[in-house]
Amino acid sequence: SAKRQGRNHSLRFRPALDQQDNPQLALVSDLRAALVAGDQLELFYQSQHHPATGALTGMEALIRWRHPRDGMISPGDFIPLAERHGLMAELGSWVVEKACAQQAHWQNTAMPDTTVWVNISALQLFQGDLESQLAGCLKRYHLMPSQIGLELTESVLLDERAGDMGPRLETLRGLGFPLAIDDFGTGYSSLGYLKRLPVDKVKLDRAFIRELPDSVADAAIVKAVLAMAEGMGLSVVAEGVETQVQRQFLIDAGCESVQGFYFSRPLPVTELEARWLTEAQPQVETAQMQQAM
Ligand code: C2E
Ligand code: MG
Ligand code: MG
Ligand code: MG
Repeated sequence: SAKRQGRNHSLRFRPALDQQDNPQLALVSDLRAALVAGDQLELFYQSQHHPATGALTGMEALIRWRHPRDGMISPGDFIPLAERHGLMAELGSWVVEKACAQQAHWQNTAMPDTTVWVNISALQLFQGDLESQLAGCLKRYHLMPSQIGLELTESVLLDERAGDMGPRLETLRGLGFPLAIDDFGTGYSSLGYLKRLPVDKVKLDRAFIRELPDSVADAAIVKAVLAMAEGMGLSVVAEGVETQVQRQFLIDAGCESVQGFYFSRPLPVTELEARWLTEAQPQVETAQMQQAM
């Protein structure tokens, strides 16, 4: 838009002044530099688990920005800036590329096989050439589309600027990528859209998990969503599971996948590998320990 170009224009020609005036603009120009440098951005991964057995059911890629001066900045603080200042396409494609490279690497290690889920911003769907980027990644990294899942927030899917998202999603799903609705239950949605959109999974927002099992309303909502999803052939991931009682509620309610601090925080790759490469081979580890003793 003219407005956005105007902003870029003034940023380019009057950086010092703008940055003094507006710390957010300083952050935008830092982010632009970070995208060029590459080494301040990193993907963490948070595991998803079968609530009863703890078995791995998926990994979600979550971006982190280690700002050289301000320390770790959370995506909630810079993704909206990237969107507003025309950096989201580039940031989004960095994430897709990085997550695919990581999944390809894990295919050659003893990491358990699982889908890596990537968060996709509205702007990547509206503007970008997401399909061809993904197709390119599959080819270059020798991945199957089932190995890369796409998470779209409910608000993206219902965004009026998006028009009818159905066809875009049909294309992505036609290519074989699993699709999930993120933060399910927080938008101003009618349930009717679930019927129209070709998705495989809903991620139940942590707002509904937080007060389990005490909140009668949340307990009812969670059970209803699980029943509805089952009836529609969708799977459900419960987000934000932090406690044993929440976990137990979800086991009893028949939820097959959970994500949250109870099982694991989002972790840098090295920590994730340390955890899963060891847990995947308990016998080997025991044998080595016995040899050592
Ligand atoms: P999200 O996709 O719904 O991701 C889940 C968020 O909940 C993550 O926050 C995660 O760290 C946090 N979380 C996980 N388990 C728990 C828990 O048990 N308790 C609590 N209180 N929080 C938990 P994070 O990493 O700060 O990301 C925030 C949001 O930023 C994400 O929400 C997603 O919408 C967006 N985001 C993150 N990475 C990316 C990315 O690579 N691309 C895009 N477009 N958006 C991203
Ligand atoms: Mg996960
Ligand atoms: Mg997500
Ligand atoms: Mg979410």
